Amino acid sequence: MKLLEGKNVIITGASRGIGKGIALVFADHGANLAFTYSSSEGPALELEKELMAKGVKAKSYKSNAASFKAAEELVSQVLEDFGGIDILINNAGITKDNLLMRMGEDDFDQVIETNLKSVFNMTKAVQRTFLKQRKGSIINMSSVVGVKGNAGQSNYAASKAGMIGFTKSVALELGSRNIRCNAIAPGFIETEMTDKLDEKVVQSWRDEIPLKRGGTPEDIANACLFLASDLSSYITGEVLHVNGGMLT
Ligand code: NDP
Repeated sequence: MKLLEGKNVIITGASRGIGKGIALVFADHGANLAFTYSSSEGPALELEKELMAKGVKAKSYKSNAASFKAAEELVSQVLEDFGGIDILINNAGITKDNLLMRMGEDDFDQVIETNLKSVFNMTKAVQRTFLKQRKGSIINMSSVVGVKGNAGQSNYAASKAGMIGFTKSVALELGSRNIRCNAIAPGFIETEMTDKLDEKVVQSWRDEIPLKRGGTPEDIANACLFLASDLSSYITGEVLHVNGGMLT
């Protein structure tokens, strides 16, 4: 059964990693994909082709999630290109890790603007469309780090915790209009974001996870599919933890 047949979806940051995984799974379920990237034009164009080969409409957009103006322009362009928007996945994110002692103001601001303010930018930009159609599903990609904190990631943890507060507030504001807003808190998912880490450290993380492995983009995509589709039509304001038991 295809769960998203004919639905138009925006995913921020889908040129690789988790966003790409979501795009591929959603295409298998019949969704049309409008997705953004920051600098990976080549991989974005490749993904466009891969998605279209699955028989859905797909288009990539170079758009800086941290910019309010760019989010507004993106949404009007997607409305023109796709004729509507049903689902928004706020996935774009960066890390600029350092101990507080060494963290510069720029590292803090950039992470907050790309990870957290972007969610405000995009949600504001789709709000009118969702209100008019009295339906919409918004999914924000938080992190286990936003729930439990992590040494060396105070900027990232603050951005991801902020997303949870934003998610719950939007769910309260827009629930009466049948607009749902949920967050996913992935644990350790093996992507380019985690490729930067030392292999020994990564192995010790795997060993500590009750399911004894890092997650895959598909693990997150499947959770996203549930929250995006009508299977979760009575769920809003929730944080779905997908972490192999890391918080247990
Ligand atoms: P990657 O680094 O693999 O991919 C990040 C994506 O975001 C890329 O498509 C990148 O585009 C895009 N991006 C970065 N900055 C911007 C920007 N300013 N505007 C638009 N797009 C941008 O990350 P992951 O796939 O690992 O992570 C995806 C999300 O999941 C992030 O929000 C991350 O915080 C979260 N997450 C990841 C976890 C993990 O273990 N991997 C764990 C918990 C949460 P480009 O390719 O052009 O740079």
